[in-house]
Amino acid sequence: MAGILFIISAPSGSGKSTIVNQLRSLVAGLEFSISWTTRSPRGSEVDSREYHFTTREHFEEMIRCGEFLEYAEVFGNYYGTAKATLHEALAHGRDLLLDIDVQGAAQVRKIMPEAVSIFLMPPSPDVLAYRLRNRSRAEGSVQEVIIGRRLAKARQEIENYREYDYILVNDILDRAVEEMAAIVAAERLRRNGSGNGNSPDRERLLDIADACRQENSEARIRPVLAAFGVTDDVAS
Ligand code: ADP
Ligand code: 5GP
Repeated sequence: MAGILFIISAPSGSGKSTIVNQLRSLVAGLEFSISWTTRSPRGSEVDSREYHFTTREHFEEMIRCGEFLEYAEVFGNYYGTAKATLHEALAHGRDLLLDIDVQGAAQVRKIMPEAVSIFLMPPSPDVLAYRLRNRSRAEGSVQEVIIGRRLAKARQEIENYREYDYILVNDILDRAVEEMAAIVAAERLRRNGSGNGNSPDRERLLDIADACRQENSEARIRPVLAAFGVTDDVAS
């Protein structure tokens, strides 16, 4: 049976890595794609665990050889998903989660329209700035220029939310993790007829996932869009 491809995108600092890490211990049978990047390791990151860290020259060689499913330049560095990662997971029937930016997500959707895409939003620019500063402080240095650049990019990325199947707002961490797990379970049920548990549990998961579908999220995301100054005209 073919595996399911999940894509998650979010502005930097929204809490995507935190949520994905928690998901690892909660959901069985979901692989996490390790991207290639030309940026340097941050904090406690380890080569080939968070990313395959490489040079610009090697990355460009991989582009020339057609080794990427998608790639993009984000904040001055290349990031890309190797075709081999996808082929290996899906050939073995394993579900795969790609953590990629909005440009990469658009490229993957064109090639694989059946992919399930999830957009994670921070609750507001103030909360995002706070999380970015906290993370930078924990990693050793707060550079306001970098934080400002990430906040400006967040607004542009949020404008693309309509391209995603599901929308999450990472306000309360446990809730966002539960919603993410429910989406995976619901999509497995929908496509494979398999998933977590029996009836009441199943119904609950399906309800949680359904509430996160983009078309059902308007009320929840309206204040977030307003806080970021994204109007519905731009987003539609
Ligand atoms: P991303 O991977 O999206 O760039 P991170 O997962 O590194 O973001 O999270 C950015 C910062 O915000 C981290 O310091 C993390 O601990 C914190 N964080 C993540 N989610 C929440 C949340 N729901 N509430 C409070 N802090 C959070
Ligand atoms: P960070 O440097 O904070 O880990 O990631 C910066 C941005 O790059 C995030 O939006 C993240 O989703 C994105 N990213 C990480 N890996 C890939 C990838 O393989 N392809 C694309 N297009 N974006 C990626």
